[in-house]
Amino acid sequence: MVAVSTRFKWFDVSAAAFARACPTVISELLPEGTPPFYVCPLCITESSFKAFFREAIDQHLLSEEHVPPASQGGRALLLTCTECNSAAGTELDAHAHRAERPVAALEGQLRDVHSVRATVGGHSINALLGGSLADGVKLFGRPRHNPPGAHETFFGELDRIARESDDWSISLQFSADRHDAERAAVSWLRAAYLATFAKLGYRFVLGRAYRRVRDKIADPHSQSVTTFRVVASDRSANARAIVVVKEPWYLRGLAIIMGPYIVFLPVPDDLEFYDRLKADPDHRNGTMVSLKGSVIDWPTEPELYCDFLDPSVKSISFD
Ligand SMILES: [Zn+2]
Repeated sequence: MVAVSTRFKWFDVSAAAFARACPTVISELLPEGTPPFYVCPLCITESSFKAFFREAIDQHLLSEEHVPPASQGGRALLLTCTECNSAAGTELDAHAHRAERPVAALEGQLRDVHSVRATVGGHSINALLGGSLADGVKLFGRPRHNPPGAHETFFGELDRIARESDDWSISLQFSADRHDAERAAVSWLRAAYLATFAKLGYRFVLGRAYRRVRDKIADPHSQSVTTFRVVASDRSANARAIVVVKEPWYLRGLAIIMGPYIVFLPVPDDLEFYDRLKADPDHRNGTMVSLKGSVIDWPTEPELYCDFLDPSVKSISFD
């Protein structure tokens, strides 16, 4: 948890950023002397937003958000409204967490043994998985979690085929890790959006292209954005970077790297971005193209860079 003073600091810088990004909201819609307020970057739209005064921090209406989620090793980065924050925990992040556990289990990263359903030669049992693919996977039987005899049949069969053939396989079903793959993916989209907001600010994510992104975060099964993430599994879990992509041309925009995932986000007015991605043959074939561009440092607190640019800068471009 970050210190209360840090939360107030994040509040102040973000409130100042919003006032710079949307000066007419302040001057035309609000009574004079309205105290500074924070606008949640998740539930903001081009026509409405939720505003919170400083007291909201003490009232727990604003809370710190980890990017990526804490369960994925993320750090507290910015404030969001508690409603958006807690909804994501159960509706998105829990799915992302369960999606990672089979991989973590096989890599030996889990501290405890992991429950699985193992099948060999048509016989299945509930079992516990230990060890790792590198050091040898261990399967532990659970006699009391299986019908009488199932255990003996399974290990008897395993013994037999291991003796008689060197071409055999066990299938492992990670039934305790069942998750909605779309919700798991959108958890990463949300994290990428929040990192982009923290780095580049309101002016950037209020671009028209981001309406589709927020729609997808609010409703993971909507068709507003269907292709946005690739897996590059050779990356370390702690890798973090924002890449301004120049090539290939159809991926011009941002690539947000978080561990093994790369999430693609548009520049503010690129309304065709996700349609290009969907049509891209490399994406369709599941292969990863090499990206060319420049890397920006990962944010460690709200920086909101574009909001503090000279206001005469009308459009934000990275070309
Ligand atoms: Zn919100």
